[in-house]
Amino acid sequence: MQGMMMNRPLKISDIITFSAENHPDSEIVSVRTEGDIHRTNYLETSKRIAQLANGLETIGVKPGDRIATLAWNGYRHFELYYAISGIGAVCHTINPRLSTEQLLYITKHAEDTLLFVDITFVPILEALKDRLPKNLQFIIMTDQKNMPKNILNALCYEDLLNNQPNFINWPDFSEDTAAGLCYTSGTTGEPKGTLFSHRSTVLHAMMVTISLPNALKEGNKILPVVPLFHVNAWGLPYAAPLCGAGLIFPGPKLDGESLFSLMDREKVYSAWGVPTVWLGLLKEISIKKRSPKNFKDVVIGGSAAPSSMIEAFESLSINVCHAWGMTEMSPIGTQSNLPIRLKNSSLEEKLKIKTKQGRRVFGVELKIVDSEGVILTHDGQNQGELFVRGYAITKGYFKNQEATNNAFDADGWFGTGDVATIDADGYLNILDRSKDLIKSGGEWISSLDLENITMSPPDILSCAAIAVSHPKWDERPLLLVVPQEGKVVDINSVAALLSNHFAKWQLPDDILLIESLPLTATGKVSKLSLRKIYKNYYSERV
Ligand code: AMP
Repeated sequence: MQGMMMNRPLKISDIITFSAENHPDSEIVSVRTEGDIHRTNYLETSKRIAQLANGLETIGVKPGDRIATLAWNGYRHFELYYAISGIGAVCHTINPRLSTEQLLYITKHAEDTLLFVDITFVPILEALKDRLPKNLQFIIMTDQKNMPKNILNALCYEDLLNNQPNFINWPDFSEDTAAGLCYTSGTTGEPKGTLFSHRSTVLHAMMVTISLPNALKEGNKILPVVPLFHVNAWGLPYAAPLCGAGLIFPGPKLDGESLFSLMDREKVYSAWGVPTVWLGLLKEISIKKRSPKNFKDVVIGGSAAPSSMIEAFESLSINVCHAWGMTEMSPIGTQSNLPIRLKNSSLEEKLKIKTKQGRRVFGVELKIVDSEGVILTHDGQNQGELFVRGYAITKGYFKNQEATNNAFDADGWFGTGDVATIDADGYLNILDRSKDLIKSGGEWISSLDLENITMSPPDILSCAAIAVSHPKWDERPLLLVVPQEGKVVDINSVAALLSNHFAKWQLPDDILLIESLPLTATGKVSKLSLRKIYKNYYSERV
């Protein structure tokens, strides 16, 4: 028997309409690429979104068109999210840190028809103009006053809004309609596209809002350092308006000093980003000898948060929520906020829990399996490949059947490529990307475990443990360590520290001090580049 309830489609435009009615005054503050600060709120933004949507229709945008953006976190990018998807087109956020070849590949693969560009990225456009598809129309995200001259017949963003009505009857369509497109740069092969739907996006916004209630509350100001071009800034542009939290968009400057002063001035309550960003902020906190005013919550994800980083924030009474997810999951899968019964735990207890990636959010199911695909029990010991399924998880890559065929098991669960344990309380512990695990003499060594301990002394800024091929053992760990600026790190003391925590065969064969680690386009340490650089390090020594 069928239920007898209405089946209204879940639509992204409903979020901004709701927010304009219920949270009209919650602020959106942006550091603009033009250099100044812009302030608005959800009510005013909803009007500009309607103008932009009307403008897009006027220039011929049709449902299903892919409209690309190359932009920082700011109010215009936010407006594009809603206006594009609201009229049934697809917002394709491009990561400007991708290589030229990847950038060209994805604009062509997505068949983008319009490309919205922040003024800071105009040089990228100019360099690529002869290789980009000929029919691609450029729109510079600024006003006439700041419009760069003679740019490829580009239109001006504010001209698109001028004289357009600030109201729109958002069209109805199926909730399965595509709304957003985001490519991940895999370590091998071409980037793969995840095509989010209205349904998955709205459900993810609700899932995140109920799962991270500490941050997502009316009146709280939230700083997405995680870019709008990296999996929809982890869903914040949808979750924040839904609950009435304000958004503070940092623009291009993401160094510790700029973030500190923005957070201090705007009284940011919760800030979200990858671990590399927080290294800079923590350094600024130690220089200033205080944390930014009102800063009480930090969400760390994208790669493993070292326990020294969690400790540094928690010691300042800043709650750490360590989250795990993937582009293909919209992205949030687990989060490590403590349940009420553990809220008053000692710092040591908290660290033990929060160094793990946390428990699943509602709407995400997790399983770990062995190499034969047999499901392993959640006892905190069994290590297996992590598979997921849920409300906001991809069912295939955009126009890429081969990658799709390889991504799922026979029961339709998505293979994350992560190796993990899950304990009896449901806490996920990511041990590694399966390709980053180090296989020595048939035994696995977790690079994340080695890195976590290495990061404990304050003189160490960052580190990476990688697999390097070895003539006898197949692979052996090599540890690369970056000291804090002006500090001297003694390799022997790092080795001694590790030997207190690991069996002899798990210890790196060598430890090298280097100046910096290469980063990927999303700000994670690029182990692929490191493995290439040090490929022959052990074989050449023998
Ligand atoms: P992306 O889709 O680019 O965000 O990358 C997703 C991958 O990042 C995951 O499969 C993990 O390998 C890694 N990742 C994300 N969050 C975490 C975390 N908190 N701890 C460890 N690895 C993480």
